[in-house]
Amino acid sequence: MTKSFIQLHIGIDDTDSLSGNCTTYVAAKIIEHIANFVNFSDYPRLIRNNPNIPWKTRGNGSIALSLETKKRYVEEIISFIFNFIKNNHEQDINTNPGCVIIEGEIPQCVKDFAKRALISNIKIDEAKRLIEELKLKSFHIGNGRGLIGALAALGNELKPSEDDFTYELLTYRLKENIGKKRLVSEESIHLMDKKLSPFVFNNIDEEKNKSIITPAGKDPVLYGIRGEDANTLLEAMKMVKTFEEIERYCIFRTNQGTDQHFKFAKSKIKKYSVFKGEIEVQTKPKTILGGHVFFKGKVLDSNKIVDVAAFEPTKRFKLVVKQLLPNDRIVAFGGIQVFQGDTFTVQLEKMIVTHVSNQYKEISPLCPQCGKRMTSAGFSKGHKCKKCGYKDRNSKKIREPIPRQLSKGLYIPPAGSQRHLIKPNRRYEIDKKIDKKIILINNWWKKMKN
Ligand code: ATP
Repeated sequence: MTKSFIQLHIGIDDTDSLSGNCTTYVAAKIIEHIANFVNFSDYPRLIRNNPNIPWKTRGNGSIALSLETKKRYVEEIISFIFNFIKNNHEQDINTNPGCVIIEGEIPQCVKDFAKRALISNIKIDEAKRLIEELKLKSFHIGNGRGLIGALAALGNELKPSEDDFTYELLTYRLKENIGKKRLVSEESIHLMDKKLSPFVFNNIDEEKNKSIITPAGKDPVLYGIRGEDANTLLEAMKMVKTFEEIERYCIFRTNQGTDQHFKFAKSKIKKYSVFKGEIEVQTKPKTILGGHVFFKGKVLDSNKIVDVAAFEPTKRFKLVVKQLLPNDRIVAFGGIQVFQGDTFTVQLEKMIVTHVSNQYKEISPLCPQCGKRMTSAGFSKGHKCKKCGYKDRNSKKIREPIPRQLSKGLYIPPAGSQRHLIKPNRRYEIDKKIDKKIILINNWWKKMKN
């Protein structure tokens, strides 16, 4: 990079609401507008932050763009982006857009902030303070909550030497189709998944055998395909047939499907934080109204008692959780929520069963005379045999082991109920075979229609 070029990083968050828009789309449009004046040094990064904070719209995602540009364009680009967000964010009481700019290298304190944004609940003031201390250019609307995600995306560089990462290709709809039913061929998604597996993932919910690449809301996304490299995603896009036109597509580099939050998680019980720790089961799991499964567990690091929950949509996973019994042990991966009173609940995202305890039931002994199972003769009165009449006042119940169906090992909910950051089974199979490098392919984004 010569002296007349400047390295610029742009973090953006909180431009959407449930009634419309998507921060990835705002970013995709900004990319189009500035493309002729910059050299992108990375794909746009789609960073998923702590999934347990309650004020997220959907998946708590934020965006960072990294590029080089001529010194003389810098001011113009920044003011264009601030204005673009001002004019193109969703108008909603819960939408608080934020954008932060970093010139040059990302400071270590921003990287540290990003790590904490993955696992804890950060206050808006902390983001504002950091921006002030570092004298960063920033822009926000409303209470500025979006500044948290903007900084978190900037600090999470997904360096191949340090971090696992994946890609997502997002296609967007024509304006006139937004809000209507998405017209994508189910069959073509299944074919694509079959052909490109294991290098694409989370296209199909394996339990329902239904595609999950199309969102349900009023946002502009038509579908998103996740995978291990950008070229495979372009191939995947060609295979997916749609019965409506695609306005544009863009490939993002992302921490989705990497378990990145669990890399930094601890066993501390703090509201809305990410939890990772060993738990001993204290009570037999119960199914409550709505089909959710709950049990009491002891966090072994602190001896604290918590509720542990597997929610109804996790289906098969929930049924495995139901097989746990007192004294079993799991490494629980999830988030801390408070559902009732003051009790903290670990909402499970996945678990490793580390110990399956021996369980016993008490039964009456066999008759020493005829071999038939005896019955109790009453409290402290021993046993009697109904067949031959034998009685023994001193005989005691015997303990018989209960066979367990549960095996030790890793359990993950089906794709349709996995949160974005969870590493799916398919990725465990290929992890070690892939040498990850960032190669920006030519057509990583394209506007196809006005
Ligand atoms: P989408 O996935 O559709 O882009 P979203 O789920 O990302 O939407 P947002 O509208 O971006 O939801 O709202 C999440 C808000 O939470 C943002 O303002 C973001 O800055 C903030 N935020 C992100 N991470 C944290 C965190 N760790 N602690 C506190 N606030 C956070």
